[in-house]
Amino acid sequence: MTSFDAVEVIRTKRDGGTLTDAQIDWVVAAYTRGDVAEEQMAALCMAILLRGMSADEVSRWTGAMLESGERLDLSGVGRPTVDKHSTGGVGDKVTLPLAPLVAACGAAVPQLSGRGLGHTGGTLDKLESIPGWRAALSPAEYDRQLREVGAVVCAAGDNLAPADKKLYALRDVTGTVEAIPLIASSIMSKKIAEGASALVLDVKVGSGAFMKEADSARELASTMVELGEAYGVTTVALLTDMAQPLGRTAGNALEVAESVEVLAGGGPPDVIELTVTLAREMLSAVGLTGIDPAGVLRDGRAMDVWRRMVAAQGGDPDAPLPRSRETAVVAAAASGIVQRLDAYAVGFAAWRLGAGRARKEDPVSAGAGVVLHAKVGDPVARGQPLFELHADSTDRFERALSALDGACVIGPTPPRRTPLVLDRIGG
Ligand code: URA
Repeated sequence: MTSFDAVEVIRTKRDGGTLTDAQIDWVVAAYTRGDVAEEQMAALCMAILLRGMSADEVSRWTGAMLESGERLDLSGVGRPTVDKHSTGGVGDKVTLPLAPLVAACGAAVPQLSGRGLGHTGGTLDKLESIPGWRAALSPAEYDRQLREVGAVVCAAGDNLAPADKKLYALRDVTGTVEAIPLIASSIMSKKIAEGASALVLDVKVGSGAFMKEADSARELASTMVELGEAYGVTTVALLTDMAQPLGRTAGNALEVAESVEVLAGGGPPDVIELTVTLAREMLSAVGLTGIDPAGVLRDGRAMDVWRRMVAAQGGDPDAPLPRSRETAVVAAAASGIVQRLDAYAVGFAAWRLGAGRARKEDPVSAGAGVVLHAKVGDPVARGQPLFELHADSTDRFERALSALDGACVIGPTPPRRTPLVLDRIGG
């Protein structure tokens, strides 16, 4: 591979120029093996954040990240393979009912996942609240579970886009996470490497999401759809509302319990709607039409797969879930109808209660989190519970309560209803 001068590459982007394919291949590979210094890559990421990238540059950058590790081959699975990725939201536990649902409908769902950082929870943290469940699988266990159960959610190995691991850690401490080309290439290099033939993206919009505005969420979604298609993965994106939390719980074991309710045919309507909508998109992306996922959820077939999926990873689907030692209730200060319920505030409160981590090596509390007793549009009476806080020690409550200050706005008239699915891109 031709070598370049890192300073020259940085200057090109700093001055608004376009990086060549060879420059991109070199800088990503050289950074991954340690030949480009952290401060040089930090400067380049900042230049990318400020100057942007052309579609060709993002595509090549994604390819270079993909090349840094292996691309899994799932052709031996014996079923069509399809995954879902959410850009992260508060109370977003949809992977838990969705993966077994789609598997029960005949596809295989291979999901290599990460842990949560900040106010949105990670799927692995949620599943780890199930007694005995383990996130780490050997390649042989992973293959077997995918073939025999049809759904696996487990920790990504070190060889899945290793360039992203280094780059993401650097972006996190240099104020460069928010660059759309860098977010899109980071997510898509990992998802393409995972080897599924189709991918459905759930791009969240609103206070509890990465993307606060629909326009930037749409730009991120279109960039990711183009990348997926460029690398041979059928890709569709939905833009979904994250102004208020999804469902009625935010926190690890609390969200598992709510997901199990959905698998048992109950649960909150928004979680059911998003699970079924995403399942339809995933099935259609791999040509499995004519199956109604709503029926498969209702009649318990998805629950059967969930139980096998949990047990295959050492978990006991019948074991009681951990509960926090302490609870506190926040009551409505006035009577009326809930106008607004700020997702970010709820996620931040759950994090302060111990459900999330500040640094990636921090432990999380399985039982901590927030239960919502009212959602937007619900009538409430003064003194009625709005939030139930769960934590392992009472000294967590004060800071969580201050995060929730002003999070729920109550007014006299019904608010305008926002659809859960705001837009669809690709396909
Ligand atoms: N999630 C990722 O995997 N990468 C990003 O850059 C942002 C969110």
